[in-house]
Amino acid sequence: MSTFQDLGLNEDLLKAITDLGFETPSEVQEKAIPILLEQETDLVALAQTGTGKTAAFGFPMLQKIDIDSRTTQGLILSPTRELCLQIANEMKAYGKYCKGLNVVAIYGGSSITDQAREVKRGAQVIVATPGRMKDMIKRRLVDITKIQYSVLDEADEMLNMGFKEDITDILSGTPDDKNTWLFSATMPKEVSTIARKFMNDPQEITVGHKNQSTNTVSHEYYLVNARDRYQALKRLADANPDIFSVIFCRTKRDTQKVAEQLIEDGYSAGALHGDLSQNQRDIVMKQFRSRQIQMLVATDVAARGIDVDDITHVINYQLSDEIETYTHRSGRTGRAGKTGISMVIVSKSEIRRLKSIERIINKKFELKEIPNGMAICEVQLLSLANKIHNTEINHEIDKYLEDINALFEETSKEELIKKFFSVEFTRFFNYYQKSKNLNVAAGDSGRDSGRESSGSGARYFINVGEKDGFDWMKLKDFLKEVLDLGRDDVFKVDCKDTFSFFNTEKEHQEKVLAFFTDYKHEGRFVNVEITEDKPSRGGRGRGNSGGGGGRRRDGGSGGDRRRSGGGERRSSEGRGRRSEGSGSVDRRRGSDDAPARSRRSDGGGDRDKGEFKTTHSRSGRSRR
Ligand code: ADP
Ligand code: MG
Repeated sequence: MSTFQDLGLNEDLLKAITDLGFETPSEVQEKAIPILLEQETDLVALAQTGTGKTAAFGFPMLQKIDIDSRTTQGLILSPTRELCLQIANEMKAYGKYCKGLNVVAIYGGSSITDQAREVKRGAQVIVATPGRMKDMIKRRLVDITKIQYSVLDEADEMLNMGFKEDITDILSGTPDDKNTWLFSATMPKEVSTIARKFMNDPQEITVGHKNQSTNTVSHEYYLVNARDRYQALKRLADANPDIFSVIFCRTKRDTQKVAEQLIEDGYSAGALHGDLSQNQRDIVMKQFRSRQIQMLVATDVAARGIDVDDITHVINYQLSDEIETYTHRSGRTGRAGKTGISMVIVSKSEIRRLKSIERIINKKFELKEIPNGMAICEVQLLSLANKIHNTEINHEIDKYLEDINALFEETSKEELIKKFFSVEFTRFFNYYQKSKNLNVAAGDSGRDSGRESSGSGARYFINVGEKDGFDWMKLKDFLKEVLDLGRDDVFKVDCKDTFSFFNTEKEHQEKVLAFFTDYKHEGRFVNVEITEDKPSRGGRGRGNSGGGGGRRRDGGSGGDRRRSGGGERRSSEGRGRRSEGSGSVDRRRGSDDAPARSRRSDGGGDRDKGEFKTTHSRSGRSRR
């Protein structure tokens, strides 16, 4: 195994490496750095997340550029603002002894004039998101005509997010003889196309097996009914009192909802997604990095590449449509040789997707049980005992001790301990004592989902109809196609004049609603809502589902949690018809779910471009 000296890095960089505490080069660094230092070549490097790619291109770039010149010589493109900032900070740390080095981050959602001013001061290296970069080139705020080294970091993700054209445009304004270094975790077709198009006989390095997830991560899944997803999440959190985790949801909307609900239930949680302002995102990330937030609920795009140490658990609250995404998610934990756990909460209908993921990560998922209430109480109690045992005494309390001691004069140590722990224990106990078993037996072939889908599954209202050129068959085909559903998955399609109704099995409900959050048909937002007599407050619903163990909560209501179950749907066809007959959109709007949905469809606002695109491409592949 080589050292950083062996790789040929100069003194200034080696000093920074010592400061950073890097002892030996990682595999991708060992392979890439000598090539990039010694040769003027293009490079394609495939390595999973957390393998140290930033340093693999960062050090050679810093060593090769002319720091005495103020010309922009290095350009690093990365998919998200967070990643862009992270890379810029890393580059600054690597180059802290390179006097005169100026690394500037360029990304959307923050003042373009400030960024332009920084560039003007002479940035040898620019780290940018493609959207903002293109913008700045158009306005002639940056000059990249003398770039010698360009890096495409997380290339697969940038292409996923629809940045292909932006990247093409940006690179077309750079010199032909520059070197391009492409770093990616996976190598889908689009990436090799880009490589062929923009690169000149690139050298290739691959680290580990392609698409394989880290060895230090164990993969677990929990089988529950879809409506119990949120309750399951809470239990997993309660069963791991020191959890420090990223929780992945599929859509921005779900991300926000789950985070809000967790906060409401007393957990230290925060949301990270593209509908938040840059400032909000910065705050959340800062809180997460400083451990003020224990659970970061995030979309895939927003969390991509985020490097926070010591994440103990990645929780797949919902699986992504693209199975490759799982590798990126689970790569958030088990970094730098630490162990981590990647948990997946699945319902019966998703199990086969786990099989596909297993093939990609080349590892098996272990079926685990959501702990029962008493097990959680025990964990919490012992964790508290440990915490107390390890607590340093704060002598500020000395002055009150006399009074306190007086109060407990008659209490034995044994009794005192019992009382003391009961304070905390009772809270969890009250909440969990009558809790039900959330696990679905693996062999029990969908009994529960069967009951869920009895009757007619989920029925939806959609605001297109015959006036939009649909009849029931066309509408059915359209829905099947955009939702990527099978032949029999959309049924009972009933096309009216300006609106229609259709059904899917309950298991597709999330997907259907998520897809139509901001989908336009012929320039008009398509609105899809559940139509039921009683709007279902699904497991993840916004209604406060009775607290939870919740860390900071005092009261612990222990209310009727079963209320959040969607079990008592009463949507017989007869009732369904009645609600159709009224055709009353207003009534539906009156449901607790509708206003948010309608608002969302209208509001463009400060939306992360990439995120927006991804949401579409993810579910709407067939439309492209
Ligand atoms: P990737 O881009 O491959 O996902 P990063 O470049 O973000 O990975 O690096 C992941 C983490 O590993 C960072 O915290 C980084 O500082 C650290 N790291 C990188 N190289 C080394 C090394 N040689 N030794 C120890 N830690 C390293
Ligand atoms: Mg990276």
